[in-house]
Amino acid sequence: MTVPSRPTVSAQPGFRPTVVEAGLVQLANNEVPDGPLPTAARALAAATTGVNRYPDPTAAGLVDRLADHLGVPAGRVVVGDGSVSLCQQLLQALCGPGDEVVSGAPSFELYPVLSRAAGAEPRPVALAPGHTLDLDAMATAVTPATRVVFVCNPNNPTGTTVDRADLERFLATVPDRVLVVLDEAYRDFVDDPEVPDGAVLARSRGNVAVLRTFSKGYGLAGLRVGYGVFPTPVADAVRRLALPYAVNTLAQTAALASLDAGDELRDRCRRIGRERDRVRAALVGAGFAVPPSQANFLWLPVGDRAEALAAHCRRHGVLVRAVPGAGVRVSVGTPAENDAFLRLVRAAEGVLPEPAGS
Ligand code: PMP
Repeated sequence: MTVPSRPTVSAQPGFRPTVVEAGLVQLANNEVPDGPLPTAARALAAATTGVNRYPDPTAAGLVDRLADHLGVPAGRVVVGDGSVSLCQQLLQALCGPGDEVVSGAPSFELYPVLSRAAGAEPRPVALAPGHTLDLDAMATAVTPATRVVFVCNPNNPTGTTVDRADLERFLATVPDRVLVVLDEAYRDFVDDPEVPDGAVLARSRGNVAVLRTFSKGYGLAGLRVGYGVFPTPVADAVRRLALPYAVNTLAQTAALASLDAGDELRDRCRRIGRERDRVRAALVGAGFAVPPSQANFLWLPVGDRAEALAAHCRRHGVLVRAVPGAGVRVSVGTPAENDAFLRLVRAAEGVLPEPAGS
């Protein structure tokens, strides 16, 4: 006799983390290759002696600082142990059985997982040619059952973006009762001025939320801290679903210090952006149709050769992320790591099956 779990849980594929082995080059998780920003590293070292105490339960210092930074009232800001937590709380707060959640496909793989966990039905919408979110098709996918639409901008795993005009046109078509979540996990790497700032859009609209994280550009993935800007009633509901003390003391300290290090963040992200563009040019030169990326990763749309390519890289010591049947996502690492990946990809031709249909 086994204890049954809810059918929505037992039917879940769950999150498939990349298994990391010591000594492998890690280009699978969209982390930055260097540590925390220097200012945050110093603050962290000084904060470790205080961890016998529980953290500030409301993370009030961090919330106030973020509200200031974003130009929104503190009541609209919620912090969580990673933005993925806020994603989960948000779906639990808004969705239940019979409700639908629209997103791109492929897009961040946890949208469908967390939607189903909340009892809702994911409605993935195929990307447009060029590997960008198809906002027109996503607008058409909105039905009376839709509660949430995720617009991942830049999109994970493709790195592509939607621009201000297209997003504003899309927002104008979405009914007020549907929350549009602009997931800007990779915003820090964006250098195209046409890519809109979600916080600005959220300020003036009652059905727009923004999710961001300290995991990527700020280099704090291991500490788990992210934040969201929500319409006030949604923020109240999201906050109510948080575990107590979700954001730990070191995460609060490092996040606060990071917000004081804007120049360090910009320098780092500019350097990663240049490296990203160098690696993309090399991949395009090698014959891969890699779309321009505004994130810290690149997308190789190799279709049903994705898993073979990722396995080839792993065998030779480099971890990348395969989206089966669609492509391979590779994060931007150090120049030496990126060169190791480029060498492998150039040598992969002989080991991969022919593309489907060839
Ligand atoms: N959104 C997107 C698009 C992501 O790629 C990720 C992490 N890979 C997250 C949210 C969650 O990030 P975290 O929980 O580390 O803040």
